[in-house]
Amino acid sequence: MNVYLDNAATTAVAPEVVEAMVPVLQECFGNPSSSHAVGRKSRVLIEQSRRRVAKHLNCHPSCIYFTSGGTEADNLALRGAVRDLGCTRIITSEAEHSAVIKTAQSLERSAGTTLDLVRHLPNGKVDLEHLAALLAKGGKTIVSLMHANNEVAVIQDLERIGAMCREAGALFHSDTVQTMCHYAFDLEALPVDFITCSAHKFHGPKGVGFLYIRKGVKLKGQIEGGSQERAVRGGTESTHNIVGLAAAMDLAYTDLVAHQDHVRALKAQMATGLIEAIPGVRFNGDSDSPDGLYTVLNVSFPPHPKSGMALFLLDLEGVACSGGSACSSGATLGSHVLRALEFHDPQRASLRFSFGRYNTAEEVDYAIAAIRRVFA
Ligand code: PLP
Repeated sequence: MNVYLDNAATTAVAPEVVEAMVPVLQECFGNPSSSHAVGRKSRVLIEQSRRRVAKHLNCHPSCIYFTSGGTEADNLALRGAVRDLGCTRIITSEAEHSAVIKTAQSLERSAGTTLDLVRHLPNGKVDLEHLAALLAKGGKTIVSLMHANNEVAVIQDLERIGAMCREAGALFHSDTVQTMCHYAFDLEALPVDFITCSAHKFHGPKGVGFLYIRKGVKLKGQIEGGSQERAVRGGTESTHNIVGLAAAMDLAYTDLVAHQDHVRALKAQMATGLIEAIPGVRFNGDSDSPDGLYTVLNVSFPPHPKSGMALFLLDLEGVACSGGSACSSGATLGSHVLRALEFHDPQRASLRFSFGRYNTAEEVDYAIAAIRRVFA
């Protein structure tokens, strides 16, 4: 049996999404910037997709800027804030995805931006007192803190953090790659200036996402070229991918509660099964808490001679999971997130299992049995 439990790294493209994309690939090859009818057909599809996305998130369509995915959108927000909006300081955290932390470090080197790292509480939540103290230092600032951590499932309070940023006059970006289409968003109400989306985390195609930019915030963009995406992101739009993103979002939000219930139940089954199967098992971060991201279970296994091989041995058993960060599954260096949040224990192997709409209870039983064999 093959069991895919690495849905935080990427997800299978939904058949409905493929169905929406294929006719675009077959029939709508026009360049959306062309003024003739062939091009206009592609333009219509892109603008319809933008409107559908905006409707789900309760924002104006002009706030959605399509990109090649989450990494580009994170870069666009941070680089744009420094280059175009005069930010001289970035406040972020060591537990961020590398698309944020490495961009912030690169801006520190290349643009002289001050980089302040906010501390975390022992449970992995941002230390809001420390954030308040950092914000009080002043200076034109962008705060970038992710909604849900992709490795340890800790969810940050975006409303609270956004309100603190507003009060301090700072811009607020949140990487919402792991929560977009897994939770509802109301961007009219949420105090954020930028949020990031990546379609392949919710059964859409790879290579497409977007940055939401609050109305009135004007970026010049980082990819020079044509004036696509209102000159914020040059390059011919990927029409089929954008249509696929909107189709995946339609699917996710039409069925959100059923999806959440299904995935929550699978994760609970896995946690209970592992507690029974492996004495001494623990769960990192908020992954076994009802407040945590419901798709991710980060498991810390008791010391065992085969610990270091666990990922490989599970792969041989047909179980796909992850040992490092979302984008470097299989990495043996250990996780920068577990280290940053002090959940790392060199004696114990940590594996991340992440669940999606196509997983079944039978698959979870199989995975538990395979883990029991590995750790026997
Ligand atoms: N941010 C987070 C939290 C992620 O988990 C990922 C992907 O692993 C990304 C950003 C990068 O997104 P993309 O793969 O679309 O570049």
